[in-house]
Amino acid sequence: MRILNIQRMSTEDGPGLRTTLFAKGCPLRCAWCHNPESMAPFPEIEWLGERCIGCRTCIKVCPAGALAFGSEGLAIDRSTCDRCLLCTGACPARALEQRGEERAVSDLFGELIKDRAYFGEDGGITLSGGEIMALAEEAAELLRMLKEHGIGTAVDTCGYCRQEDFEHVLPWTDIVLYDLKIADSDRHRRWTGVGNSRILANFEYIADRRKALGLTLWIRTPVIPGATDREDNIRALARLIAGRADRWELLAFNNLGRDKYKRLGRTWPFAETPLMTKERMETLVGIAHDVGCTCAQFTGMTALES
Ligand code: SF4
Ligand code: SF4
Repeated sequence: MRILNIQRMSTEDGPGLRTTLFAKGCPLRCAWCHNPESMAPFPEIEWLGERCIGCRTCIKVCPAGALAFGSEGLAIDRSTCDRCLLCTGACPARALEQRGEERAVSDLFGELIKDRAYFGEDGGITLSGGEIMALAEEAAELLRMLKEHGIGTAVDTCGYCRQEDFEHVLPWTDIVLYDLKIADSDRHRRWTGVGNSRILANFEYIADRRKALGLTLWIRTPVIPGATDREDNIRALARLIAGRADRWELLAFNNLGRDKYKRLGRTWPFAETPLMTKERMETLVGIAHDVGCTCAQFTGMTALES
């Protein structure tokens, strides 16, 4: 299974205290993505400038000639880098780190089950991403093992996968955290790289079966200035969701991804975008409630009041 990392004591990926496993690789390219290191389905290297001692060992060992010092520190030519990872092993200061690795499902299960002491009644394991449904077979196997050991399970997905992938995964899942971002398919394509017809069809599929399967369904919408925060978008999403989910979280935009983009040598169009205000988030929640979607609430950081 291609994973990015495992995060412990998480409180943002479902109810209770959880351990979240982040898969590596995502079929969407959301312009606002906060986890750019999880997009590519292969290991990548990051340079951590604050650790670098400038010894240039990495440049000497790189067989592809992909590394050079520039005005902003070590530059990685990612079109030349073939991801051999020789530089990460050679760096004496651990300033070059590998992001992403392949792990056996049984190995991951052994690691995750150790955390059961803090799950309590509500918590458990969340499989997230990247996009976990891109690894549906491995995810189903891991979820089955966890369920058979009495662990609460959740899947956090963008919904862009085949319906049969959900058929594999849902029997072993207690909670689905499902992203609905933009109701209009053309605008969805513009901001995420794909249209939303498959995502909406999978949402219908899950919503129709949630009672029979005993699933809890939480919808999540990242509220991104200029992209998803339009009132007509929130109204259209509310009409889709009303009566069909247990909770709808409007997640206020945060700009914490800025440094991650820098370390990966990428620019981020939202780097200077300010946080949402509490007032604006409350207005959007109010619109959802007016349409009859009373399970809507907002979460996340908002700008300090002036
Ligand atoms: S090997 Fe590590 S410490 Fe040395 S220059 Fe490269 S990144 Fe910096
Ligand atoms: S991963 Fe390999 S090819 Fe890429 S920069 Fe490091 S040593 Fe060079």
